[in-house]
Amino acid sequence: MYRFSQAKGLSQAVVSAAYNALLPDTCVLCEQILKHPQPDHLCPYCRLALPYNLISCITCAMPLQSTATSYCGPCITKPLADQALVPLLHQREAAYLLHRFKFQKSLREGQALAQAMLQMINTMHAAGQPLPQCLIPTPTSWQQRLLKGFDHAQILTRLLSKEANIPVKAHLLKRNYGPPQRQKTRAQRLKLAHSTYTLRQPGKRINYQHVAVVDDVLTTGTTARHIVQLLRKAGVERVDLWCATRAT
Ligand SMILES: [Zn+2]
Ligand SMILES: [Zn+2]
Repeated sequence: MYRFSQAKGLSQAVVSAAYNALLPDTCVLCEQILKHPQPDHLCPYCRLALPYNLISCITCAMPLQSTATSYCGPCITKPLADQALVPLLHQREAAYLLHRFKFQKSLREGQALAQAMLQMINTMHAAGQPLPQCLIPTPTSWQQRLLKGFDHAQILTRLLSKEANIPVKAHLLKRNYGPPQRQKTRAQRLKLAHSTYTLRQPGKRINYQHVAVVDDVLTTGTTARHIVQLLRKAGVERVDLWCATRAT
């Protein structure tokens, strides 16, 4: 079942990519024809107009008012992760791209988001920050993959993996079937996260010191916090979060 749904999602993406390759590249936001194909399928104007998350908390990516501090209030005592890389705010054009990628299953918008993430990752790496040893997509349940035929977190992770040359380890975590988190309140999410996300092999040590968990949007951080705790308990020393957009 798992392989079937994954293959279905990938085959749709391959057909879509092949179809798009026959046409001139157009901007995914304003639809003007691009003189040269762009890896993010954006014209320079739309790329500049994206709502970038320029000044944000190091460990949860929540926007900050100034550069006077590197952390938001809650993260001073309870940091969400070791580092959170989230290049865009979940607003306007970025929210539109993410919605198209996630619900219309449009790979070009996923590539636009992945490229924004890669730009931030490359900047961080050029500044001397180490890259993780592997990327872990935030898991979806096999029932959801079967229903949707598309695993957006896994596709985003594979796009990043290919460009940044970091392996994907998709089988360390699993998501048990449950209603989508967006239908839940904050309190319900907190309760749900503990039962929904688990290690695939509880009790077994994970032999990576530094990993990054990848997802499309970072919202309350409830799921992310639980996953970070699971990985740390399994022996991972440093857990980063890589997401495309930050909800505020
Ligand atoms: Zn444009
Ligand atoms: Zn924070």
